[in-house]
Amino acid sequence: MVVMRGINDEEVLDFAAMTLDRPYAVRFIEYMPTLQADNWRNLSVSGSEILERIGKRYELLPYGSQELAGPSRNFKIKGSAGSIGIITPISGHFCSDCNRIRVTSAGMAKGCLLSGDGMDLKPLLRLGDEKRLREALRQIVAGKPDRHGLDDNNKELQPFAMSRVGG
Ligand code: SF4
Repeated sequence: MVVMRGINDEEVLDFAAMTLDRPYAVRFIEYMPTLQADNWRNLSVSGSEILERIGKRYELLPYGSQELAGPSRNFKIKGSAGSIGIITPISGHFCSDCNRIRVTSAGMAKGCLLSGDGMDLKPLLRLGDEKRLREALRQIVAGKPDRHGLDDNNKELQPFAMSRVGG
């Protein structure tokens, strides 16, 4: 659940409650302003606030990192069947550990969700040239940024809709 103030943040406790009787891993993610709306900071709810809200209702226990958990910090409501994860790309960015490459629906590969247009993989895929494809992917990985720059109002960030980007 990407938590957005005034849009869906009233549902945080409902989502957390889904882990009580079912073995679900529900993750709460701080909103990242990929569309660069002027008011994005007002929409963002920090991971600590999300945890605080859940902690006021339920007793939360730290829960060890699971395989493929990525940057999620995990917790369990005491006695629950499932778990809760908190992902904080804004208040505690984890870019230096990021191992993701993003591929857009137009076949452009990006080393970071927020980097520019990316590299067009389609010609290499059409050629079936695995060696060059591997080199291209290595180049993208080598160019991954240390941080996303959202806090610095990075002017190079280009607005885009998340629906166009896979992970
Ligand atoms: S490097 Fe980009 S894709 Fe990776 S965590 Fe940072 S913002 Fe997200």
